[in-house]
Order: sequence, then C-alpha cells, then structure tokens
Amino acid sequence: SPQIVWLRRDLRLADQEAFHAAAARGPVIPVYVLDDESPKHRTMGGASRWWLHHSLASLASDLHKHSYRLILRRGRAAEVLVALARETGAGSIHALRHYEPWWRNAERELKESLPDGIKFIRHDGLYLLPPGTVTTGSGGPYKIFTPFYRAMRERLPPGEPLAVPELALPESWPESDKLEDWNLLPTKPDWSGSMNAAWQVGEGAAHEQLDAFAEHASKYEAERNLPAIDGSSRLSPHLHFGEISPRQVWSAFADRRGKGVESFLRELVWRDYAANVMLQFPDYPEHSYKVNFANLAWRDHQGEAAADLEAWKRGRTGYPIVDAGMRQLWATGWMHNRVRMIAASFLIKHLLIDWRVGERWFWDTLVDADYASNGTNWQWVAGTGVDANMFVRIMAPLLQSEKFDAAGYIRQWVPELAGLPDEVIHDPSDMERPDDYPPKIVEHRTARERALGAFREL
Ligand code: FAD
Repeated sequence: SPQIVWLRRDLRLADQEAFHAAAARGPVIPVYVLDDESPKHRTMGGASRWWLHHSLASLASDLHKHSYRLILRRGRAAEVLVALARETGAGSIHALRHYEPWWRNAERELKESLPDGIKFIRHDGLYLLPPGTVTTGSGGPYKIFTPFYRAMRERLPPGEPLAVPELALPESWPESDKLEDWNLLPTKPDWSGSMNAAWQVGEGAAHEQLDAFAEHASKYEAERNLPAIDGSSRLSPHLHFGEISPRQVWSAFADRRGKGVESFLRELVWRDYAANVMLQFPDYPEHSYKVNFANLAWRDHQGEAAADLEAWKRGRTGYPIVDAGMRQLWATGWMHNRVRMIAASFLIKHLLIDWRVGERWFWDTLVDADYASNGTNWQWVAGTGVDANMFVRIMAPLLQSEKFDAAGYIRQWVPELAGLPDEVIHDPSDMERPDDYPPKIVEHRTARERALGAFREL
C-alpha cells in the first residue's frame, strides 16, 4: 500500500529517514500541509513564508525529476492527513519528529485519530541527536550549554547520512493545491526583491552553500565575529527548513579538523541545545524563564517607546551598527550573529523594551526564524533565560562596532554614512553626521542608567 511522507521542516530527499523508511515499504506520497489552524500554532512569519514558497517549489521540481509529485494540502494537519490516508488507502504515515509544542500536539492528535490499520511512524533527523537523549549522569536534561556540549561531543559523530532512496510510483496521485494559490509570496508591498538577490533556496543550493563554506571554514574562528566578512556558513535557513540535515553538515567536516572547524561545529550544537531547552520548557519563547522579569518596568508600547521601537525596526536609531543590522535583516531576512546580539541587546537594555517584542519582530523578518533558536538566543541576550548573560552586563554597541571592525558592514547597509572615514563611522558626532542620518534616539549613559535602575527596582 502507498506510504505517506508528511513533510514540515525537513524539505529534502537525501538523508531523510521518513522517505527512506516509507520507500522501503511501498510507493511514496509526499505531502506538505500548510497548517495555520492547529491549536497554539505560532504561524510562520512573512520572511519564512517567502522561503517556504521557494523551498517547496524546489523540492517539487527535484521530485519531478524522478517523475514524482509533491502533494500540497491546507488545514489542520491531523485532519488533513487522516483524510488523505483514507483517500489514498495508505498503509502508514511517516514523518520526522518535530519538537515545537504545536507539532508535538499535532503528532499526538494524528496518532489518536488515525483509523485502525493505518500506522503513524516517526523517525529522527531534525537534529544531530534526538532532543531529550543527551542526559546528565542522573538521567535528567541539561539546562546549561557547556556541559550539554561536552556530553553531546561524547556521543558524536552522528551516523552516516543516507542517500536518496529509490522511489516507486503510486498507481495514482491525489489532488494537490497549487503552490501559487497559497499566496506565500508578498504582494503589496512586494519587499522580496532584495531577498531574491540574497538567496538560492532548496536542497541543491544548501549543498552548494555548504561546499563553498567548507573551503574557508578553517578561518571561521578568526572571522565569524566580523560582520564585514562573510565568515559564517549562512546555512541557518537551509537547516531550519531541513533542506540539509545537521548530520550531512557534520559529516562534510569528518576529514577536516582544526580550530575553525571545531568552533563551527560547536555553534551547530547550539541548535541542538536550543531544541533541548524547548523540549524542557515548551513555551520558552513566550515568557522569561526567570519569572521575576515579568515585573521589570519594561517601557510599554505607547508614545515614545512606540516611536523607539519603530526606529529600531527600521534601522533609524542613530547607532550605526544597530541600524546596519536591522536594515540587513529587513533587506535579506538574515543578520550577522554578532550584530543580532548587539541589536537585540540594544532593544532590551537601551530601549528597555521587553525582549518578547524583539523576538516577534525577528520571527516575522528572519528567513531562519526558529522557535527554539530564536527564543533561546533572545533570552540569553536579555539575561532572563536558563543559561544567560546577566541582565546588568550591558553591551556598549559603539565599542562593539569598533572592536569587531564593522566599518565596511556599516557602509554597505547604511549608505548615508558611506562617506565617513573608519575612525568616525562607528559613532559620528553631530557635526560629522550627514543630515539624512538620525541622531541617537537615546544616549548610551542615560540608557544604561535607566536599565540598571529598572533592574534595581526589580
Ligand atoms: P554559522 O555561524 O555558520 O553556524 C552554523 C549553524 O549553527 C547555523 O546555521 C545555526 O543553525 C547554528 N547556530 C549557530 N549559532 C547558533 C546559536 N547561537 N543558536 C542556535 N543555533 C546556532 N538562529 C536561527 O537559526 N534561528 C533564529 O531564529 C535565530 N534567532 C536569533 C536571535 C538572536 C537575538 C540571536 C543573538 C541569535 C539568533 N540565532 C538564530 C543564532 C545565530 O545568530 C544564527 O544561527 C546564525 O547567525 C546563522 O548564521 P550562519 O548559518 O552563518 O551561522
């Protein structure tokens, strides 16, 4: 009987356990369900929808090369899948385990609602190791990254990646929605021009990106903090949508070691760590882990704070490094990691706006927006999280900009400042500042004192 493969954040053919297991049992029907309906579903943001569109188009075209189709359906995942299984006479539904709370619910719902005789079979493959399986000596989950990392390293490398399986054709294909009808791409206004220029989407593109990065991975440790240099892999959206598996990434470095590669692989483990945090605390991205932060005198969204928030979103804070980052984010759906930290810290500490507001903006604008990674990193920067910086450690954005040599990056993203020399560009004085660039919306010292004051009150 046909086997359904239910795809979500695993849009690839190679090293895809669900495809593999399904293909071993019969003809495969791959389906993607656009689910904005399952309870508590954090629906995808705009930039993610843009990526999803192109990723699905790419996967459909790859399947087409095997005379295959990708079935598209819309609705509450469990209901849609039960109906599809009945319609096609499927023997089982295969899927990779997902860990977002709404997907765990949907998986449970599917399991409970499938008629007798149809199996729901889950496989691993979203992470290096299944979340929840790296445990402390006493069998509990890790909360802090470094011991988690050490324990994880003992269990790595992950196994060998799987090749694309032979796929047998089903006798007939069920109906499918048309991708265009899902309107995942922006129309009015269409902000996607610069995104098209910035990215190649899909499984093939992910591997090209990996190969290109592998060539200079030895310099990763030295360059990853320098926003002006393309020193990191830019694999995050490919990994988020599962166009490439973390196991494939890991195994690409099996024969290359050294400081750069080690440091890169350590970052990759952060992705697993974030998923482990989400498994322990499913609503981690919704609330400060250290609960007393709910009572911090965050500035609310009205009046001046609303204008400050808008300036942050649009990259008009008067802090060149922050503005460069926020504009890079808006234009390309991605921001350099060092600058993410600076921009996030600026919102939380300098503007004293609740980190959750920033988390939501990133959720909407990042092509790699990931419930676990975004939440974990925001709470880390805020100092509200399970493993976090201290709130009172307030980053000085202008010093960071100099320290990490961001002049070239600022010139690229804040063209008003492009004419300024290196010594000036990080922090132009009122005399040096061009007319079309805004003054600082808040002074560093004033902001610092306001944040520390709010913390003391707490
Ligand atoms: P590389 O440096 O090449 O790292 C390789 C891979 O490791 C990345 O693709 C990513 O999958 C993983 N990784 C690296 N750093 C981290 C990290 N700190 N946490 C989790 N995974 C990591 N990353 C996301 O994937 N999605 C998010 O929504 C996200 N939100 C963030 C929000 C804030 C406020 C901050 C400070 C960081 C956030 N990150 C997020 C982490 C990090 O910034 C990105 O993963 C990284 O910049 C992606 O670029 P890259 O692929 O070139 O990374």
